[in-house]
Amino acid sequence: LFAGETEFLKGVVAMSGLPPADRIEVCFAGRSNVGKSSLINALTGRKGLARASNTPGRTQEINFFTVGTSHYLVDLPGYGYANAPVAIVAKWQKLLKQYLSGRQTLRRAFVLIDARHGIKPVDEEILSLMDSSALTFQVVLTKTDKIKTSEREAVLAQVRAALVKHPAAFPEIVLTSSEKGEGIATLRAIIATLV
Ligand code: GDP
Repeated sequence: LFAGETEFLKGVVAMSGLPPADRIEVCFAGRSNVGKSSLINALTGRKGLARASNTPGRTQEINFFTVGTSHYLVDLPGYGYANAPVAIVAKWQKLLKQYLSGRQTLRRAFVLIDARHGIKPVDEEILSLMDSSALTFQVVLTKTDKIKTSEREAVLAQVRAALVKHPAAFPEIVLTSSEKGEGIATLRAIIATLV
């Protein structure tokens, strides 16, 4: 499904720059440093495809990747930068809102949550945006190799409890580690059912 056929298409800073809505797409969202670039690289089997280090200046873009000719993977700007200027945050939020609510071909958002931290207030904002856009989102826990097996149930319970408030939440939570490969095949299979 992915390996070798994924290419970077373009970075978009305004709705007018979106590629034609001619195929199904799924998007990835998450706070900066959650492991989003690493996950996209692991999913596509292409190291360095998504930029592994991000700066606020470079990540205002919505990045589109083509997978063969059949669908798009969409990398949303990371959120939650401590020092991001207010005007920049406002600009991201506007573009995100327009994209999430206005993109006909967007099937699902995967919201990445660090398995060590669970859902934080900064994540709640984007989850609420997805609710109001009636966009189904699915939580993907990242960096599971950094928590003990015994800690998994606690983070899952925290996430499940937080999701109760969100009508757009898809109930299944995916546990992943880009480092160890956990959950990568599962996530690929989920995406394959959507596109
Ligand atoms: P992004 O800002 O969300 O794109 O995050 P990155 O993919 O750049 O990852 C942020 C940091 O977390 C980097 O130092 C990665 O090496 C590390 N990281 C990402 N995924 C994993 C993982 O599954 N396990 C571990 N242990 N570290 C990870």
